Amino acid sequence: MSSEAQGGGRVLVIEDEPDIAALIAYHLTRRGYRVETASTGREGIAALAREVADLVVLDVMLPGISGLDVLRSVRSEGPARDVPVLVLTARRSQDDRILGLELGADDYLTKPFSPKELLLRVEAILRRSRQAPLESGTQVLRAGTLYLNAAASTASLDGEPLNLTPTEFRLLQAFLERPGSTQSRRRLLEDAWNVDRSVSGRLHTRTVDMHVRRLRAKLGEAGNWIETVRGFGYRFQPSPDDP
Ligand code: CA
Repeated sequence: MSSEAQGGGRVLVIEDEPDIAALIAYHLTRRGYRVETASTGREGIAALAREVADLVVLDVMLPGISGLDVLRSVRSEGPARDVPVLVLTARRSQDDRILGLELGADDYLTKPFSPKELLLRVEAILRRSRQAPLESGTQVLRAGTLYLNAAASTASLDGEPLNLTPTEFRLLQAFLERPGSTQSRRRLLEDAWNVDRSVSGRLHTRTVDMHVRRLRAKLGEAGNWIETVRGFGYRFQPSPDDP
């Protein structure tokens, strides 16, 4: 499949700096996406009210309503409530990244970023949003020589069966289902422990760290694919080279 055929979604870019907005639009358009741009938060919210995009690229630093306020507003109500959002933040502002993810952004990119990074993140988010939910059950997930069959509850690495606890298994499934996406500990708790927000709020997020540590150890070299996102959670980033 050509990269153009994989694209084809509608992306709304909310960014006030014309050069950056144009650059993003150029690379996404080349990849087959239809791109609309908005230069203020208010414009962006209005554009989403007219038509829900498949993905929003949202700059945090906007004049007037900030990007985080846009995100808060979009997530609070309306037809675009579940739209995937990639936030753009300044490199120095870790607070913005964490707040963005807490407010429901799907991932973030720090400026300056390369077009390649942008496209990888956009594609990872769209792949994830187009996938069936976790409980669909029948698919075989794969990264390199790591396989997971959700229906059969089996996983293998390099052709050898992996001996995982049910929690480790669901954790690995959550990672394989969303490659390239940053996932909060809270989200992983909800997915891997099968609990909702009312319960997960009483669980310790350190529980996740402990299980990730054990899972990494069982995966050997492939354990390095589970990257720690400091202060927030984890990102599963399979490397095409190994194992
Ligand atoms: Ca800006």
